[in-house]
Amino acid sequence: MSDAPDTTLAVVSLGSNIEPRAQRLADALAALAAIPRTRVVKASSVRETEPVDVPEEFRGQRFLNQVVVCETALEAHDFLHRLQAIETEQGRVRGPVRNVPRTIDLDLVAFGDLVLDEPELTLPHPRARERAFVMEPLAEVLPGFVFPG
Ligand code: ADP
Ligand code: MG
Repeated sequence: MSDAPDTTLAVVSLGSNIEPRAQRLADALAALAAIPRTRVVKASSVRETEPVDVPEEFRGQRFLNQVVVCETALEAHDFLHRLQAIETEQGRVRGPVRNVPRTIDLDLVAFGDLVLDEPELTLPHPRARERAFVMEPLAEVLPGFVFPG
């Protein structure tokens, strides 16, 4: 799908379960489009999903999720840092507890054919394949997508 020789297809999963959720996703999409040497190829529809693996007291806070395909000339870690900067700009506070409500979560589902097993960056994302909120919108934007590794 890449139309330039030195670019990589990056699949990004977006999620928000703190209002204004739709606005946060829209802002994140605009921010993705503004990453240097990067363009947005396709964005899935936005879906509302039940929280998965979240602490009991937050089960009622449903997510809006979306998958966005980018084409980037950045290296994988640089691209991840851009995603984290967008989270920070949107008020995401990174605490010790995982899967608590978040203004915005941007996960790197896949980065071309890259397979990495580092705590900072595991590719493809280790939990993406078991998450309907990733796989369904992914099938919409990249039908037949095959995970590397
Ligand atoms: P989660 O998305 O699992 O709820 P966080 O968004 O807080 O949790 O991310 C936790 C850590 O996961 C980050 O510090 C990041 O470096 C690391 N990480 C490892 N692989 C990935 C990936 N593929 N995409 C995003 N973050 C990743
Ligand atoms: Mg994350």
